[in-house]
Amino acid sequence: MPNTKTVKDYIRTIRDFPHEGIMFRDVTTLFADARGFRIAIDQMLQPYVGQRIDKVVGLEARGFILGGAIAHQLSVGFVPIRKKGKLPAAVISEEYTLEYGEATVEIHDDAIQPGEKILVVDDLLATGGTAAAGIRLIERLGGEILSCAFIIDLPDLGGRARLETMGMDVHALCA
Ligand code: 5GP
Repeated sequence: MPNTKTVKDYIRTIRDFPHEGIMFRDVTTLFADARGFRIAIDQMLQPYVGQRIDKVVGLEARGFILGGAIAHQLSVGFVPIRKKGKLPAAVISEEYTLEYGEATVEIHDDAIQPGEKILVVDDLLATGGTAAAGIRLIERLGGEILSCAFIIDLPDLGGRARLETMGMDVHALCA
């Protein structure tokens, strides 16, 4: 029998993680399955066939796993956006608001050249705060964002609308 499982079928939901009341989408079960991981990468790339992508930027931490695989598939470079204090060389920073408090993300200031076409990758889009901060970093370096690719979009949390308001093209495999 052919395997008809979809990407969504490989993702499990963990109740009350990391806090009570949160339904956490756990993509480690997708990554751990050879077919699941393969079809997720293939489907994330599908909208961009024939388009120029110079670099893939991944958001910490699961965006590194997806972004690394996508960059390898495209034979382009990979650039990490990390939480404050993790990158060793000179960085630029952006703060953003979390449910409780603030967070800061950083990128090496020489990681992107002006005019490079960038694909932004992460596992999940919720409020869009993380991705929006990453987009600001890339744009400050002169990168031109082709699109933002996610596995999961939680549309009720407003992330897609927020990114689209910033002029972004947004793709996700499931909700
Ligand atoms: P946002 O900034 O859009 O509110 O949250 C998205 C960020 O938080 C992403 O980097 C994503 O990895 C992480 N995140 C938030 N909720 C979940 C979840 O339920 N599952 C996973 N895998 N990541 C989440």
